[in-house]
Amino acid sequence: LILENDEIITGNNQENAASPTGLCAERVALFYANATYPDIAVKAMAVTASNSNGLVDGPVKPCGSCRQAMVETEVRYKQPIRIILDGKKKIQVFEGVENLLPFAFKPESLD
Ligand SMILES: [Zn+2]
Repeated sequence: LILENDEIITGNNQENAASPTGLCAERVALFYANATYPDIAVKAMAVTASNSNGLVDGPVKPCGSCRQAMVETEVRYKQPIRIILDGKKKIQVFEGVENLLPFAFKPESLD
């Protein structure tokens, strides 16, 4: 991901034998960004994946938990994040996570 100050932060999947204990690359990067640069907005995120054959064909899609974390990052900084979903055969670009998670929980959901 890239922050408003042009700092680039990477994340990768953190696997664990107890599956729920691991964490997706998207949230690793978002949480590191928030912990290290709490006052700087996220400008864009690119999500990609590879296997033993190289880059995967289709655009990589974030899981629902990561989409929700992205939404809350947008809410925190009051600006959309450009999301780039990478693949060898296709790349998709979205202006704002709302396009990936139309019924996200927002702060008003907690009222
Ligand atoms: Zn995820």
